[in-house]
Amino acid sequence: MSTLFDKIQGQDRPLKILKRAIESNRIPTAYLFTGPPGCGRKKAAIAMAASLNCETGGLACEVCSSCKQHTSGTHLDLHITEPAPGKTGILLDQIKSVIGKAILMPMQGKFSVFVVDGAHTMNMEAANTFLKTLEEPPATSRFILIAPDRDSVLPTISSRCQTLSFSPLGRNIVRKLLEREGIVGERAKLLSSMARGSMERALTYQSEEVPEKLANEFEPLASLHKSDHKKLLDLAERWGRNREEALGILDFMVQWYRDMMILSLEGPEDQVIHISHLPELQEGATALKAGSLSAILEAIEDARDDLNKNTNVELTLDRLLLTIRSYAPVQPI
Ligand SMILES: [Zn+2]
Repeated sequence: MSTLFDKIQGQDRPLKILKRAIESNRIPTAYLFTGPPGCGRKKAAIAMAASLNCETGGLACEVCSSCKQHTSGTHLDLHITEPAPGKTGILLDQIKSVIGKAILMPMQGKFSVFVVDGAHTMNMEAANTFLKTLEEPPATSRFILIAPDRDSVLPTISSRCQTLSFSPLGRNIVRKLLEREGIVGERAKLLSSMARGSMERALTYQSEEVPEKLANEFEPLASLHKSDHKKLLDLAERWGRNREEALGILDFMVQWYRDMMILSLEGPEDQVIHISHLPELQEGATALKAGSLSAILEAIEDARDDLNKNTNVELTLDRLLLTIRSYAPVQPI
């Protein structure tokens, strides 16, 4: 018989541990699921919650009414907390609401399950308030926190959770999942190579729409290879104010230069993501040539590694932009 866990790809290790916990009926009061967004952490949290309340008494069967309500998000004992739209973090009031519900008896099933998706975005006050409940959890409540890695939440929080790490998805798995979404062929191949283990990221790249914040960055990006030194330093300052945003800019740059690479190699235009900027892309592709473009893509990946190692954000971008500029036919002044 298949279970909800079977719907999750590429996470055999953490899923095995979760299934064993259900089968042995020894379920920790709190888990911390770590890994990149879009690798199956939230699906696993829902499968776990459904298993705790499944009418079969075992692993989430998918077909009982409790399981169906878990997957449709209508079960009264499944509570998912995440940053509100337009907010970057989970607020104290949201955590207070979790605590208030956690002390009550479950309404439908045996357990109330609280999934905190983005546990790393709680501020200190919210985290400290949550801590008391994690220390002395009500007997019928279970908590599943989701964060990119263990170090991104307070040690006092992570030490009260059983940490399960989810791995970035392999390229083939992302490709398979994209094919299920109807994205096939070269496009699926390209997106899976850009996804860096995250289905969420692959789907973001799939659409030409870029986040509103980045919509104004097309112009500076398109003219990077002909900007003067001062303009590059100004850009690095603006793009380098915040590590997360800088990483977003790098993702955007990867798309941009891959598009140029495709054009430069005379690949099919339907692989180009930012097709509405075709003239700028074509101009860049002609100026930069395939050899330089692959060096630029490597330099972007190096910058990403540096940013993930906590280097100075602005300096890292400075170095990257000057490197990109150095590949253009006319050297900077
Ligand atoms: Zn069920």
